[in-house]
Amino acid sequence: MPMSEDFALRLDAVLQPAVERFGTPFHIYDEQGIGETCAAFDTAFEGTPYREHFAVKALPNPIPLRLLAERGLGFDCSSLPELALAAKAGAVGHDICFTSNNTSSAELAAALALGALINVDDVTVFDKLVAIGDVPDTLCFRVHPGIAGSLVGESYLGNPDSAKFGVPADQLIGVCARARRHGVRHFGLHMMLGSGFLSGQPFLRSLDLLLEQAARLHESSGITVEFVNLGGGIGIPYRPDEPVFDLAGLGMAIGDKLSSWARRHGLPRPTVLFESGRYVTGPHGVLVTRVLNRMSKGREYVGVDAGMSALMRPGMYAAYHHVTVPGGAGRPHEIVDVVGSLCENNDKFAQQREIPATAEGDLVLIHDTGAHALSMGFNYNGRLRPQELLLRADGSVERIRRAEAESDYFATLDFPPLRLSPSELSVGAA
Ligand SMILES: *Cc1c(COP(=O)(O)O)cnc(C)c1O
Repeated sequence: MPMSEDFALRLDAVLQPAVERFGTPFHIYDEQGIGETCAAFDTAFEGTPYREHFAVKALPNPIPLRLLAERGLGFDCSSLPELALAAKAGAVGHDICFTSNNTSSAELAAALALGALINVDDVTVFDKLVAIGDVPDTLCFRVHPGIAGSLVGESYLGNPDSAKFGVPADQLIGVCARARRHGVRHFGLHMMLGSGFLSGQPFLRSLDLLLEQAARLHESSGITVEFVNLGGGIGIPYRPDEPVFDLAGLGMAIGDKLSSWARRHGLPRPTVLFESGRYVTGPHGVLVTRVLNRMSKGREYVGVDAGMSALMRPGMYAAYHHVTVPGGAGRPHEIVDVVGSLCENNDKFAQQREIPATAEGDLVLIHDTGAHALSMGFNYNGRLRPQELLLRADGSVERIRRAEAESDYFATLDFPPLRLSPSELSVGAA
């Protein structure tokens, strides 16, 4: 959604001094709004055992992560740096879910060292745990989405036929039985069907499928599934006319399903886990930019001082991000492309968008950059990533990441020399 009215008011109060002190561009995140979304989870799932593990990839900065940890959230990680970030934010043991894919032994060893809850994405991951000689007593198994069939109007993490994630249902009982022989006592199942869903239907579909697998596991091998992880994917309305996700409705529907399944099978209700990223922080961030150039060539172009290094969703997915102009309320509107400086014609935050008239030096806000924004940014063309600010609940504004400097861009060129001579290279050659 375009930022909430409350966030807009809070930002308006600090925007000018923040721009003067910190300079543009920057992402700014709203502590108050993030806290309200955390509270909405608690309300929606009241009475149902649940936990949200924030997907670190959405906003990998230890300061907002710590705020989430203080609110009781765990973290979902899929790489070594993400594990380190979760630990830095204060997470321990099962506060951390490790939902990786195409996983290395080094990654598993790091997750084991933290006591993280490992989400087994493939039989080969379980083989690696056995080879490491450290099979934990609790494991989660990710189920391949191929069994979900088609979801009309919704999107998968890839096509169910070609999805690379998860253990196929016909291998699940086998690998869980092996896990039990290796000492696993507590089992969970995971499934994620996609991202950006604006209705609860895909989550209820995953839940049905996971409960079906849980019943099958119990019948075939007496294994009780203690938790079901519905992954991430709760969407936010990026466009002003899109519906808000009905989290309370989903909470109620999930609670009902769990209770009736438990009654039907005479089993305890499993705990529900989520790994939302976008829903938790997405609407609570804005990218603040300044107009560098007004250009007129067929179309009207508003060139701003940020680009795909700060936010690549529009270029990568043709994603909509709402654009507003502070102080632009009374001005005539015009239809423009809002563009960055990359030598790529898809470096456009908005195309043919109607916004208030702007001039060089004006501020332009790109909305909904609290998740999958800076973290996806890249350095192509030597474009550096901008700073991150946090608008605290007490009204103060704090820099929580500096902008990249040219020295960061050159940092990987600074290394001890290493060269194999032709004679060293021929050692062992036939
Ligand atoms: C990306 C991802 C998430 C977060 O997705 P959102 O759409 O931000 O909620 C959660 N879990 C896994 C395994 C992911 O890959």
